[in-house]
Amino acid sequence: MTQRADLVLLGNRIWYLPDGVYNLQCIARTRRGPRCRRPVEGSQIAYWSQMRSTQGLITVYDLGGPENETLRRWREQHCELHDTPDVVDFSSPEWEPFDPVRHAAVVTSLEEQVAEYTRRLRRDITEEWQPWSPIPM
Ligand SMILES: [Zn+2]
Repeated sequence: MTQRADLVLLGNRIWYLPDGVYNLQCIARTRRGPRCRRPVEGSQIAYWSQMRSTQGLITVYDLGGPENETLRRWREQHCELHDTPDVVDFSSPEWEPFDPVRHAAVVTSLEEQVAEYTRRLRRDITEEWQPWSPIPM
């Protein structure tokens, strides 16, 4: 599986995750010692939104909105099991504040986005249309 960076909107701040949102693993230390292997997101709880940064367009996993328990748990990078006050962390959370210049690889231009939409549109249209060719007489 290839890992790619994702942006996540938590509350009103955008964070950069080098290994992506679906690979975000709990950082709690288990009772036996090693790091917990459970994902922070047990099942999909948000959707992807398009936003415009100072450097171009970005796609964020959208957990924007008022502060709540889920946002706090995500920021602390804990699975639902380790969402307790007495938990000991194995490592520090991987969140990096998003910087559109430093994290330029996740920023696209409007032109790139339009080209991508066009590519997808053409592909979808051609898949919907049944092929036809004349039968030789
Ligand atoms: Zn955990």
